[in-house]
Amino acid sequence: MSVVQRFDGLEREVREGFGEKIVALRREIHREPELGFDTEKTAAKVLAALDGLPLEIQTGVAENGVVATLEGEGEGPTVGLRADMDALPIHEETGLPFASETDGKMHACGHDGHTSMLVGAAHALSGMRHRLNGTVRFFFQPAEEGEGGGKVMVDAGVADDVDSIFALHLWPGLPFGRAATKAGPIMAAADAFEMTVKGAGGHGAMPHLTADAIAMAAQIVTALQTVVSREVDPVEPAVLTVGEIGAGTAYNIIPETARLGGTVRTLNEDLRRRMPERIEHLARGIAQGMRGDVQFDYEFSYPVTVNDEYAAWRALGVAGDLLGEDNAIELTNPSMGAEDFAYFLEKIPGAFIWLGVGEDVSGLHTPTFAFDEEILPLGSALLTALALESLSS
Ligand SMILES: [Zn+2]
Ligand SMILES: [Zn+2]
Repeated sequence: MSVVQRFDGLEREVREGFGEKIVALRREIHREPELGFDTEKTAAKVLAALDGLPLEIQTGVAENGVVATLEGEGEGPTVGLRADMDALPIHEETGLPFASETDGKMHACGHDGHTSMLVGAAHALSGMRHRLNGTVRFFFQPAEEGEGGGKVMVDAGVADDVDSIFALHLWPGLPFGRAATKAGPIMAAADAFEMTVKGAGGHGAMPHLTADAIAMAAQIVTALQTVVSREVDPVEPAVLTVGEIGAGTAYNIIPETARLGGTVRTLNEDLRRRMPERIEHLARGIAQGMRGDVQFDYEFSYPVTVNDEYAAWRALGVAGDLLGEDNAIELTNPSMGAEDFAYFLEKIPGAFIWLGVGEDVSGLHTPTFAFDEEILPLGSALLTALALESLSS
């Protein structure tokens, strides 16, 4: 049987068998978004939706994560499929009938969709146990948005025996129903800095008796623009954004301190490790030259999300067979966004795949982000096909 025949009708099978259930679950999760590790109710919804399936379930992994294992009837490797469950601190403005019922919390990154697509795949694959030579492990993780729930889950050892792993992310800007990925880096490392510029405060009319922290901060922000443009190889992607600046209490007082915060995105580990020294050195030099100093903190956060070459190639093959060749896109460029699936991919060869929800859809992390739910059974079918492919060789 050819691969094409093997996936023939799979999308329809998933849509007709579990489509309504997947959409209903997505709406339930969307209505009640939870942040960070506090995904207790979301995990309960996942457990309820998995009830009755032949799965071995572990709860409380990374606080409110759920790990479910499906043993196939044949012997073989273990393939992992991962979804994230957490929402964002954004006030929803979609006007959807199932919009968030909690002010200031919203599923604006599609994680409600990822979670329900994975539940759909668990249903589909449970019905195909006789075709599975090996094991499928489903990871439902909390705290993707900034807190590294994926790392906590990997550190808990629940992925130690997984041989390959895949995850999907709904992707605005990519045509609806297209799957896109690439070998190597697909998402950037995201690190952060905070600095307090220290001067000496005083009267706005007597600057000579002060050391002006605002004037220092302004010079530092300008100078930091040259770290990427003058110190990084022009063909090496890097981003340095100062996203926070704050100082002062009144128009006629020179404040003692000013505060800056920023993010640094890189795709190369050597460059990544070099950035803090360069930022600190430049900022301190400017502050000291203006009779001040800086206190500097740098935090290495999510590493680069690096797809395994073979896994990415295989994922594109599966997407092409399932969705049609035109809908399997090999990306040329990664995104400078970040993703904590990186922690799984540090340990396990696998691939992170973008699933298009259309070009006219609001961006991720915006209050109007919404997508056509027709994508959900399609995503479930893609996850199902990735597992089938991994366990059929
Ligand atoms: Zn996000
Ligand atoms: Zn996300």
